[in-house]
Amino acid sequence: MEQRLSWDQYFMAQSHLLALRSTCTRLAVGATIVRDKRIIAGGYNGSIAGGDHCIDHGCYVIDNHCVRTIHAEMNSILQCAKFGVPTAGADIYVTHFPCLQCCKAIIQAGIATVYYAEAYKNHPYAIELFEQAGVRVEQVMHKEISLEFNRAEKAEYIKNLLEEMKQNGTDHERIDKLQAEAGELFGTGAGITAK
Ligand SMILES: [Zn+2]
Ligand SMILES: [Zn+2]
Repeated sequence: MEQRLSWDQYFMAQSHLLALRSTCTRLAVGATIVRDKRIIAGGYNGSIAGGDHCIDHGCYVIDNHCVRTIHAEMNSILQCAKFGVPTAGADIYVTHFPCLQCCKAIIQAGIATVYYAEAYKNHPYAIELFEQAGVRVEQVMHKEISLEFNRAEKAEYIKNLLEEMKQNGTDHERIDKLQAEAGELFGTGAGITAK
């Protein structure tokens, strides 16, 4: 069995999943707000509810920024505001280091820790403000997680298929090539490339 996912990696994975919902073509960002190991809100960067999407109409760029979208961090904080969920003392997991505007919103929302996966123009003033406000900032490496099921069975199936092809006289060069490809897909240890 693969190593168990840590809480940090689990919440970060959630943010990466949310980023896939982004409607802005410039950068896909996801944010998850967590308190006591419970997800209390999540957001991605996109337009206001019911508004035009960048993916349909192009970005609305002013001064090199897309002004159509609300950032993932803002969206998740505003989700808490909308439904009356306290953010004081909560943690936020973001796929990218927050911009200056989001940094200030995070501080004012009373968020205690910012976990981010990727550095993104880490603004020195944002770093300074986080420090000043006593907000902990920590980088969490995103772990690629696989949600593939029946992997061993699939590998076994391919192995049998290749074996049968060999019996039926498919030339060895072809088999070797397919075997190498399957080995790459399933990784060593799947027993496909053996022999
Ligand atoms: Zn956009
Ligand atoms: Zn932002």
